[in-house]
Amino acid sequence: MVSRVIPVETFDLVIFGGTGDLARRKILPGLFRRFRSGQMPEGSRIIGAARSDLDQAGYRQMIADAVAEFGGEEKKDSKGLDAFIETLDYVAIDAKGDGGWAKLAEIVRKDVVQAFYFSVAPSLFGDLAERLHTNNIANEQSRIVVEKPFGRDLETARALNETLATHFDESQIYRIDHYLGKETVQNLMAVRFGNMLFEPLWNNHYVDHIQVTVAETVGVGGRGAYYDKSGAMRDMVQNHLMQLLCLIAMEPPSQFGADEVRDEKLKVIRALQPVEPHHIVRGQYDAGPNGPSYREDAENARSFTESFIAMKCEIANWRWAGVPFYLRTGKRMKARSSEITVVFKDLGHSIFEGDEARHRNILSIRLQPNEGMDLQVTIKEPGPGGMRLIDVPLDMTFADALGPDAEEVPDAYERLIMDVIRGNQTLFMRGDEVEAAWRWTDPLINGWEARNDVPKLYDAGSAGPEDALAMMHRDGRRWREIKA
Ligand code: NAP
Repeated sequence: MVSRVIPVETFDLVIFGGTGDLARRKILPGLFRRFRSGQMPEGSRIIGAARSDLDQAGYRQMIADAVAEFGGEEKKDSKGLDAFIETLDYVAIDAKGDGGWAKLAEIVRKDVVQAFYFSVAPSLFGDLAERLHTNNIANEQSRIVVEKPFGRDLETARALNETLATHFDESQIYRIDHYLGKETVQNLMAVRFGNMLFEPLWNNHYVDHIQVTVAETVGVGGRGAYYDKSGAMRDMVQNHLMQLLCLIAMEPPSQFGADEVRDEKLKVIRALQPVEPHHIVRGQYDAGPNGPSYREDAENARSFTESFIAMKCEIANWRWAGVPFYLRTGKRMKARSSEITVVFKDLGHSIFEGDEARHRNILSIRLQPNEGMDLQVTIKEPGPGGMRLIDVPLDMTFADALGPDAEEVPDAYERLIMDVIRGNQTLFMRGDEVEAAWRWTDPLINGWEARNDVPKLYDAGSAGPEDALAMMHRDGRRWREIKA
């Protein structure tokens, strides 16, 4: 397979918060990989902007160090890195003050694609948007990229949308959910809408249930104070898991266009039913041999915030009526693994004498690690001895299927940034989608707060609280094993 890199137009990308953790860990190493692949046209520039008192040379050194620390194989390419950092500039700027803005206005060109990445706290979005306009830097073609969290409830998300809308049209706003930039997530759409095989079966006639698991091994240490105000529901479910659920459940859009896809996702969110309290399990990790408890990490001995959540959701439409969607995410779990699993129904009748096993096809889509898919199918056990059946996976790990080209697959951030430069909003959340997601989430959070719900303790390194397993067992089902 020959990898194809489609160049984008020449651009000026300003990264507000260009000295921050996200910029150094993800955005700039990702841009270096795009630079090396030849996707960044000559003359394009990346301009870091933050309050730190740095000059151009100081910023270039900071980013060279960041690539050395956080980059992959590409960091060995020192000649390439030298060329890449030549594209970097820096402006010391205060989002809340006037210093630096005139210089930024001087540097940013009007005749190339302009993108402004708001890699700063959301409380600064309004200041940045306003100053980009009062200083005559942004125009109707400029694009802005905003990070999660997009609000902490419907009211704050609405306020943020209104703030951005004061200066930018919806077609200029790119709300990042990096899960949508993952190769497998896009493959989910390719599998559904590019094959005759799956779409006819993708409904309540053939699907028994669907599971989405996003398990992390890390705790909240280091950002415990932030996380404690958020919890797994706000940090993971309202955005990442909800986006995955939408892509699995949505109707086929009329074409793979930004609004067509987002219209269909929005319909799914609107069809999500309120979740009964007994279909929600919240958990907190306990202290274990490898680390402190959640409460110690969060430095809040009375915290009721969940570091784990499992829930059973229902989508009220013709396609999915009666098919449960089980969502589960947590920290300090037994393995780092994200997976979507579509479990098809039992055959109902076996023609093979003595075969009493419950054979069902299972499609699993792995987001990490080892991005790929496998489809469990039933075949005859090889050899003599009659018709004994076994279930085997048809494995398609992308790294195996694509060979050396797999290394060329851009990671989520780099792909999404290139989509911003191309002006393609398909893989970004629209304002109404985010608000609809909060509209569904808010009553659930308000409900457990009103009930003074206490999260169940679970052992670090486990699959979460027993109650989450029991929730599945009551339905005669089992969670997929969490495997690295
Ligand atoms: P961070 O490490 O705290 O960086 C914040 C950046 O904002 C720094 O570059 C800081 O630089 C700059 N800044 C702060 N106040 C400023 C002001 N008044 N004017 C101009 N610049 C200012 O945060 P981060 O982890 O990079 O996160 C950035 C955003 O991405 C946040 O919204 C976060 O929620 C989101 N996010 C982060 C991650 C992640 O993995 N880190 C993941 C998902 C989402 P100076 O101090 O030099 O001004």
